[in-house]
Amino acid sequence: MTVNPSGWRPTAPENAEGQADTVTGNRALMLEEPLLFEIGSTDRTGVDFADQKIGSGRLGGLERNRPIDLPGLSEPETVRHYTRLSRQNYAIDLGLFPLGSCTMKHNPRLNEKVARLPGFADVHPLQPQETVQGALQVINELAFWLLDLTGMHGVAMSPKAGAHGELCGLLCIRAALERRGDKREVVLVPESAHGTNPATAAFAGYRVENIPATAAGRVDLDALKGRLGPDVAAVMITNPNTCGLFEPEMKLISDAVHAAGAFVYCDGANFNAIVGKVRPGDLGIDAMHINLHKTFSTPHGGGGPGSGPVVLSEALSPFAPLPFVAKHPDGTFKLIEEETAGEEHPDAFGRMVAFHGQMGMFTRALTYILSHGADGLKQVAEDAVLNANFILRSLEDVLDAPFAGSGPCMHEAIFSDKGFEGGISTIDLAKALIDEGFHPMTMYFPLVVHGAMLVEPTETESKRSLDKFIMAVRAIAERARTGDQSLKAAPVHAPRRRLDETLAARKPVLTFREPEPAQAAE
Ligand SMILES: *Cc1c(COP(=O)(O)O)cnc(C)c1O
Repeated sequence: MTVNPSGWRPTAPENAEGQADTVTGNRALMLEEPLLFEIGSTDRTGVDFADQKIGSGRLGGLERNRPIDLPGLSEPETVRHYTRLSRQNYAIDLGLFPLGSCTMKHNPRLNEKVARLPGFADVHPLQPQETVQGALQVINELAFWLLDLTGMHGVAMSPKAGAHGELCGLLCIRAALERRGDKREVVLVPESAHGTNPATAAFAGYRVENIPATAAGRVDLDALKGRLGPDVAAVMITNPNTCGLFEPEMKLISDAVHAAGAFVYCDGANFNAIVGKVRPGDLGIDAMHINLHKTFSTPHGGGGPGSGPVVLSEALSPFAPLPFVAKHPDGTFKLIEEETAGEEHPDAFGRMVAFHGQMGMFTRALTYILSHGADGLKQVAEDAVLNANFILRSLEDVLDAPFAGSGPCMHEAIFSDKGFEGGISTIDLAKALIDEGFHPMTMYFPLVVHGAMLVEPTETESKRSLDKFIMAVRAIAERARTGDQSLKAAPVHAPRRRLDETLAARKPVLTFREPEPAQAAE
């Protein structure tokens, strides 16, 4: 490989023959991009600063005594760097994002427009309350709709993601149990649960025990009943569950849990399948987080922000955290935020966040809810379920669908790697999908299905886009069934080939080091 004049080497993907396709590493209009440190040099600067003469002593001896070592780049170089990187990313605005359990739907531009109104975008959480009445009204109005859609009694708006909401719900449960002097230590979690459920329970100080699933992919009610007892604080259930199946015995489960003196936490991440159709409050649920960044179309991915309000039953509402918005009879809104304001909310377990939650997400979610209306939200659930069933039925002859026999799925379809030959596995199919221009589906989750592939198309995909995805998956699945070893090399067209994701996660390299001179001259 040649060293180019500015000193960085193209880290181009290699083609099947192990050679870089082009001298630059670029492919047509897809541009390779080195690190900022490799483009800029630390002894240059992109701007002209007059020499600063800061009088000694002004910084109390803390002035920098060696160069800052940041690469100097001009504005166009900087803009190009980030634009090129962004083009190597996949996003919901580029194509179908079939990640099961994530509800990656289109984020309407109307939401963005409203969230950017200066009256919402520019408020500060420490402004006097009388100057942010509109923002407080948005929080209050969204809370109203979340309660209406779920049939619950109270809602804590501040948690900042689903997992944060789980913690909030469990802390309410713990506070309620402590109030009645009940020391319970166990939280029961089904085998198919999202990893955040047992993690949250453990973080909240509980011992986690699994409840087995039936062959039909549902919670085993008899096994659950057999385990309930005076040591069980709560059961955490996802409905629809992570196999994309509705738990039809949910009310029986809740009744049994309540009879044993415990609480029902519902993971509401899959609310998209039932919004406007089923109210969790009618199923006996005590606490459920709602991922605004899933069901209510606020953007997610890339690390956030999320937003995970928790709806609560009457039994748990008194323990909800501070702060929250209250409406006075005169129509004004007030933030109740004093931990010690005894009379107003004496039993709050504390607070989850410094301020009030994700204001921008609240504004987007409320815009989404109001622009859809009740009928529109119901149609969201119906179309999401229809799309998932279309995928299930279009692929079940080439991919093993373990629960397809037990009827339609909800908003996501699950497949296994049964029938793949020659050592081809789920990851090979997923990597081949990248070559076809699709983000892979969720892989190897839930754990109850071998080599699971969980596909959630959401309601915002058209028939045309689903057909294209189905065509791509069918072609790859057929290769997997004949043991086509070339799948092991996929992706061959992506900017990077197979990365060691585990090593990258376990041993991230976060600091740039100048390459050894000997290496650079190679
Ligand atoms: C996404 C998800 C969560 C966690 O939500 P975050 O907002 O990512 O913290 C929990 N459970 C299920 C089933 C999910 O899909």
